[in-house]
Parts: sequence; structure tokens; C-alpha cells
Amino acid sequence: MTARVSRREIAVVGGGLSGYATAIGLALEGFDTLLVAPATERTDGRSTALIGESIAFLDRIGLADPIAEKGARLATMRIVDDTGRLFRAPTAEFKASEIGLSAFGINILNADLLELLQARATALQDRLSIVSEPVVDVTVEADGATIELADGAMFRVDLVVGADGRQSIVRRRSGITVREWRYEQSAVVLNFSHRLPHDHVSTEFHTRNGPFTQVPLPGRHSSLVWVDTPDAAETARDLRPDRLAERIERRMHSILGAIEITSEVQSFPLGGARASRMAASRVALVGEAGHVFPPIGAQGLNLGLRDAASLVEAAATSRDDAGSKRTLERYDRARRGDVATRTVGVDLLNRSLLAGFLPSQFGRAAGLAALSGIPVLRRFAIREGLSPGAGLRGLPRDLDDRLGVGPRLDPDPS
Ligand SMILES: Cc1cc2nc3c(=O)[nH]c(=O)nc-3n(C[C@H](O)[C@H](O)[C@H](O)COP(=O)(O)OP(=O)(O)OC[C@H]3O[C@@H](n4cnc5c(N)ncnc54)[C@H](O)[C@@H]3O)c2cc1C
Repeated sequence: MTARVSRREIAVVGGGLSGYATAIGLALEGFDTLLVAPATERTDGRSTALIGESIAFLDRIGLADPIAEKGARLATMRIVDDTGRLFRAPTAEFKASEIGLSAFGINILNADLLELLQARATALQDRLSIVSEPVVDVTVEADGATIELADGAMFRVDLVVGADGRQSIVRRRSGITVREWRYEQSAVVLNFSHRLPHDHVSTEFHTRNGPFTQVPLPGRHSSLVWVDTPDAAETARDLRPDRLAERIERRMHSILGAIEITSEVQSFPLGGARASRMAASRVALVGEAGHVFPPIGAQGLNLGLRDAASLVEAAATSRDDAGSKRTLERYDRARRGDVATRTVGVDLLNRSLLAGFLPSQFGRAAGLAALSGIPVLRRFAIREGLSPGAGLRGLPRDLDDRLGVGPRLDPDPS
């Protein structure tokens, strides 16, 4: 007996943050959308510093206010050269106020963001159906694609969106190739409370083994992403919480006073990946299915949300067939440059930290010194970091509204 094939316009495969955001955006554009979102075993302990256009997109899908309530504003980013090397950069401080904004963005726990996205998706039931069996096969033809789920259910769609992470089955079946690489680094991730207020400042200590980054959460709480050698990361994970807290306080030169660990300690081996294209016949990739970064400069999910925004925009120009060649070419063109420049930039910065080679150390230190000492360059870098192309063009006028200037964004009394 052949399985019944149900019809949808679009299937989004993957219920991570990129998948939910993309599916909601497409459903709000009126597309009859299926989201394939199997439950995951582990709660994601990471947080995301949402910046620039990601916030604009989350605002369009109706989530700016709840995100502002759950997250903490990032008003200043500080980079401290803690490499102890011969060529060291002066501490660089980037303030959102330098480019006329109240904040660069908002830091929110991934688990909270996922919960907000799930609630929003559930409220769109008439256009967005959600299933929890994983996809086991994808067949692509010129006029559409068929996905098969583990329970045998089949769906015929105009477009399949691969939001299924680094091992993406959608990418593999589409024939899009991927280049992957590993770093000899792992990231330890945890949240902590601290005695002194963070004043909405995020501090990134550049060490010989990678960045050690504190990012504000609401109240006297922060998240930490500590990149180190895999051995050091394992040792840190095995330490008693009070010993780990002491070590972290020391590493942060006590800038936030005594600290207490308030979450599970998780670790992530670091690697990078870049798909050769972001779209192929009847297929588009978003998020880590298309690009993976080490956690430096808050790029990963922000890029995934820019993918989502771009795909929704491209699909909206072709309502009768969201997977048309024209739509997908438009999407691929829109995303390739952004993904390529961020991949190279993050990789270079990471490698320059690890390099024992003096000219590399000098180059990084001189670059940071120039950024910190030359206001026009600093403002350019800040704008470019928030929104690709905005360095020269300037930021969209309403970005601060989307960031929610004033009390709406700042329920945090610290
Ligand atoms: C330590 C660390 C800190 C980070 N900090 C930041 C930050 O501050 N800012 C930032 O922008 N980014 C950050 N990132 C990156 C960010 O976390 C990732 O880019 C983001 O979580 C990826 O989301 P995704 O939805 O693309 O992929 P995933 O979260 O991997 O989701 C993929 C989903 O697809 C599902 N799936 C897989 N296979 C199938 C299948 N066959 N069928 C159906 N579903 C399937 C999985 O179950 C999963 O739910 C960080 C990353 C790390 C490692």
C-alpha cells in the first residue's frame, strides 16, 4: 500500500531557533507551512546576543516586546587583551551611544527564546502545522520536493527549507556540498550571578586559547562563553561549582566581584562549516545547515535570523511558487556575501588569537588599537557589525525603535 502524500506549500525541517523563526515568518506571509520539529533531549544552556537586523526580523514576527522583557540590553562592548603577549592591544570599548543607539542588542537565554518562538508558532495553527517525527528522506524534482518522516508520513511541497543543523539531511539530499573544519578548542557555557552590577557592559577577554566572554542577563546575572583547549574545558566542567566560580572570578579580574554559578555547565566542541550555496533546486538552507561559526562576535544565530528574514522576503515576491528558481536564486544571491565575509572574519580573528606568530599578534593588536583610537573607524566597525553594509551606508533610521529605546526595553533595575 502506498502512503498518502499530504500537500503543503513549504516544509521547514528543524525545530531549532532558525527553523522556528523561518517557519513563523513564512506562515505570517500567508504560506501554508509545515514545521518538522522533533523534540531535543538537552536544554540549550547558551544565550544569544541578538543584534541589528535579527531584532528587526523578530519584531516583524511579533516578538520584540517579549524578547525585550526576557533579555538584557547590551549598551557597551569591551575587549580586553589578556593574552599576556609581546604585542598587546589597549582595551577597546565600543558604546552604542557613539552611533546614536541606546543598545547594540539584547542578550537572551536560548531556552527562553525558543519558548517564545514555540508559543508564537502554536498561535499560528491555521497556517503553520508542526510535527515531531524526524525527516528520514527528501526527494527533489524540478517541480517540487517530497519529504518522508520516520512514521512514514509524506509531504509534497514547493520548497523545503533545511534548518536541520550541521548534519542537515536536506543539504545532503540537495547535492549542496559543504566545507567543514575543526578548531582545537571547546566552549564552556554557563550562567552566573555577581555581586556588582554589569551596567549592561559585555566584556570579552582575549586569551591565548580563545575569547572568554561575559554577556549581561537581566539583574545581576550574566552568561559566560569561555573558549579554551578541549582539556581545559573538560577540567573546568569537572570542577566543584565553588572552585569553578573562584576561577572564573580570577579570570575576569573580579570586575563583577564575587560570583556564583546558577546553571548547568555545558561544553561545545568548536568547528566551522560553510555550504557552497545557500539554495539549490527546491531547497533553501538557513542557520547552521548553511554555516557554522565558533562563538566569537555573536555571529552564528544572528546570521541564521538574517537568512530567515531574507528567505521570507524572497518567497513573498513569488506567492504562487515559493520554491521557484527565481526566488531561490534571489535568496542565494542575497545571503552568499554576508555568510562568506562573516565566516572569513570570525575565522581570522579566532586564528589570530591562537597564533604564536609575532606578525599575526602584531596585526591583531594593531587592528584593535586602530579601532579603539580612531573614532571614525570605530563607528564604521560598530555599524558594520550590527548590519552588513551599514558601515558605509549608515544604519536604518528606525533601528533604535526596534531595539525598544527607553522603559519598554529596560525592565532590568540593575
Ligand atoms: C558556545 C556557543 C555560543 C554561541 N553564542 C552565540 C551568540 O551569542 N550569538 C549568536 O548569534 N550565535 C551564537 N552561537 C551560535 C548559535 O547558537 C547557533 O547558530 C544556533 O543555535 C543554530 O541554530 P539552528 O537552528 O541553525 O541549528 P540547531 O540549533 O542545530 O537546530 C537544528 C534542529 O534541526 C533538528 N534536526 C536535525 N536533523 C533533523 C531531521 N532529520 N529531521 C528534523 N529535524 C532535524 C535538530 O533536532 C535541531 O532541533 C553560539 C554557538 C555556540 C557553540
